Amino acid sequence: MVSRVIPVDPFDLVIFGGTGDLARRKILPGLYRRFWAGQMPEGARIIGASRKELSEKQFRSFIREAIAEFGIEGVDDKAKIDAFLKQIHYVAVDAKGEAGWDDLRKLMRGDVVRAFYFSVAPSLFGDIAERLNKNKITDKHSRIVVEKPFGHDLESARALNRTLARFFNEAQIYRIDHYLGKETVQNLMAVRFGNILFEPLWNAQYVDHIQITVAETVGVGGRGAYYDHSGAMRDMVQNHMMQLLCLIAMEPPYCFEPDAVRDEKLKVIRALDPVPAGDIVRGQYGKAKGIDSYLSDSEHPESITESFIAMKLHVSNWRWKGTPFYLRTGKRLKGRSSEIAVVFKDPPHSIFGERDGRRGNVLVIRLQPNEGMNLRVTIKEPGPGGMRLIEVPLDMSFADALGPAAAQVADAYERLIMDVIRGNQTLFMRGDEVEAAWAWTDPLIAGWTSRGDHPLTYEPGSSGPEEALMLLHREGRRWRDIEQ
Ligand code: NAP
Repeated sequence: MVSRVIPVDPFDLVIFGGTGDLARRKILPGLYRRFWAGQMPEGARIIGASRKELSEKQFRSFIREAIAEFGIEGVDDKAKIDAFLKQIHYVAVDAKGEAGWDDLRKLMRGDVVRAFYFSVAPSLFGDIAERLNKNKITDKHSRIVVEKPFGHDLESARALNRTLARFFNEAQIYRIDHYLGKETVQNLMAVRFGNILFEPLWNAQYVDHIQITVAETVGVGGRGAYYDHSGAMRDMVQNHMMQLLCLIAMEPPYCFEPDAVRDEKLKVIRALDPVPAGDIVRGQYGKAKGIDSYLSDSEHPESITESFIAMKLHVSNWRWKGTPFYLRTGKRLKGRSSEIAVVFKDPPHSIFGERDGRRGNVLVIRLQPNEGMNLRVTIKEPGPGGMRLIEVPLDMSFADALGPAAAQVADAYERLIMDVIRGNQTLFMRGDEVEAAWAWTDPLIAGWTSRGDHPLTYEPGSSGPEEALMLLHREGRRWRDIEQ
């Protein structure tokens, strides 16, 4: 099977923070891959912008190195890279000052899509928006891409929305959540709404519970100081996990248009119940042989920020009444694995006897590693000797199902940037969605802060604190094992 690549219109993409870590690791190698795949037209230009005084030649060398380090196997073709680099430009701009803005305006062309990627610290988002406007670099067709974190709480997210709204309308603002750019996440919508098979069962009557796990093996490392102001709740749950939950729980949108999808996601967030303290477990990784503790990584010996959180949520609506959603994410866990598991109820009556015939089906949507889906079904164990039942997976790994085309599956960032150029906001968060997510998150954080709750210490390489396991055990359920 060969995947189809539809070229986009010519564009000028300005990357503020073009010399930063995200640009180096994800954005620039991703754009090269789109070029390699034939999706980037000749008339497209990528313009790096940051304070450093770099010549175009120096910026191109920086990109060449980034592709060598973070590029994708099989696409490191020198002639192609040279051709790609011809489409790269650089301008030194200070987001907080006046330097460089004139040069940037002169560089812009009139007849192409203009997009501006804010890959800089959030404290600069407002400055850049204002200076783009003041220097007449943007027009009503221009688009801006805003990185995470979008606010630290409801108040700051509202303030940021208000600032951006002074210069851009909502249709021009692309708030990025790279989880939404993952192939499997979009496949989740294809599976739910493109088949008749699952949707009739996708409700509290047939689904026992849902588990969403995002497990990492790394610690907070060099990001310790930043992370300590954030914690797992702000860094992962309020944004990425909330988006996954929305896609699982939402009603079918009337069409696959940006606002139709985002309206349905918003309804899910608004239907989330407050979470009682007893349904939240927070943890912090301890020290192990050769591994520093969170307290040492964060350089804050008394920190009570969580590097792990597990919680039980309820979506209070007709479809999901009574079906819990369990979320869990953490650092320094036993495996790097992200998945959503939809655990169906047991058949109502077993004709095979109690011992052998009451197994629930599980649909597992794997985000990483090895993106794909897996449905566990009950079958008869082959061979003579009566009716013994076993569970087997019906497995669809993208790599197996798509063959060589799987190698061409775009990384989340490259896919999302192409969506910006196309003007498709479906996979981007709307301002009201972000605010609703904070409105739900803030009281939970305020709750454990006012109680002075301390996170529980867990062992690096484990599945998190024992209490997180109990969250399910006490209800006769169990977490799926975190794959190593
Ligand atoms: P970074 O490595 O610190 O890079 C920051 C960039 O901003 C540099 O290019 C820097 O270049 C530029 N910059 C700083 N001050 C500036 C100013 N006054 N005017 C113009 N440019 C300025 O940060 P990053 O890790 O790439 O993160 C960028 C954004 O992406 C942040 O919002 C972050 O939260 C988000 N993000 C990052 C990652 C990641 O993996 N890195 C993942 C998710 C989200 P100069 O010093 O030359 O100006």
